[in-house]
Amino acid sequence: MFFLEFLIVIILGLVLGSFATAMIYRIPRGIPWAFAGNNNSDEMTAYRSSCTSCKERLKPIDLIPLFSWLLTKGKCRYCHEPISIKYPLTEIVVVLACLSIYFIFGFSLKGCLLISLVPFLVALFVVDLEHMILPNELVFVIGFIALINMALEWIRTDDIFIILEGISSAAIYGLLIWFLGCFMSRVLKRQALGFGDVKFFIVAGLWLGLENLSFFFLLSGLFGIVFAIVWKWLKEESLFPFGPALIAALYVLLLMDGSLLL
Ligand SMILES: [Zn+2]
Repeated sequence: MFFLEFLIVIILGLVLGSFATAMIYRIPRGIPWAFAGNNNSDEMTAYRSSCTSCKERLKPIDLIPLFSWLLTKGKCRYCHEPISIKYPLTEIVVVLACLSIYFIFGFSLKGCLLISLVPFLVALFVVDLEHMILPNELVFVIGFIALINMALEWIRTDDIFIILEGISSAAIYGLLIWFLGCFMSRVLKRQALGFGDVKFFIVAGLWLGLENLSFFFLLSGLFGIVFAIVWKWLKEESLFPFGPALIAALYVLLLMDGSLLL
C-alpha cells in the first residue's frame, strides 16, 4: 500500500513538475498557461507545447516528464538543439517537494492542498531567479489556495476566528515588510524590496498566521543573506531576487507546521 502511494506521489510530482516548467517558460513571455488546449480554436492550439528552437509540435512521446529528456539525452528529437537541464531539474525538485509533503501529511486534505501548491511555488522560484519578477498570477494562485485552506479549516472547526486571523495576519505581514522595505531603502539608498515581495508576504501571512510571523521574517532574512552571498559569488551582481528566499522559507514553515502536529 505504501509503495503504491509512493509511486502515485512520484507520478503526480512529475506531472506537476511538467506543469511548472510550462509556467516557467510561458508566464514571463505572456503566453497563456492555464486552460490552453481546452478550446479548439487556432489561437488556442497555437499554444500547444512545441520545441522552443524549431517550433515543431511535440508529440506525446516528447512530453513525458523527465524521461523524454533522458531518452533524447537532453536534445530536441527534431532539430537536435540542446534542451536546458533546468527543465528536468525543475521536475525533480517538484517531485522531491511533493514527496516531503506526502511523508509528513500523507494523503490528508492538507497534504493534497500543499501538493497542489508545489508547482506554483517552484515556478515562482525559477521565474524570479531568471527574470527578477514575481508574476501576479502565480502569487494570486498561491493566495487563492491559502483561502481554500482557511475555508476548509473554518468548516472543520466551525470557528470564524480562523478567517479573521488569516486576513489580519496577511495585512500585518504586508504592512510590516512594507515599512521594513521603506526603512532599508533609506539606509541602502536604493530600492531594497519590490512590490512583488510585499505581495508575497501578504500571501505568506494568509498561509502561516500570526504565530509564525517572527519565524517567517527570521528564516526569509536568513535564507536571503545566504542566497545573496551565493548570488554575488556566482554572478558578481549586488542586486539579487528576494523571492527564492521567501518561497523557501514559506515551504519550510509549511512542512514544520505539519511535523509539529505529529
Ligand atoms: Zn527542436
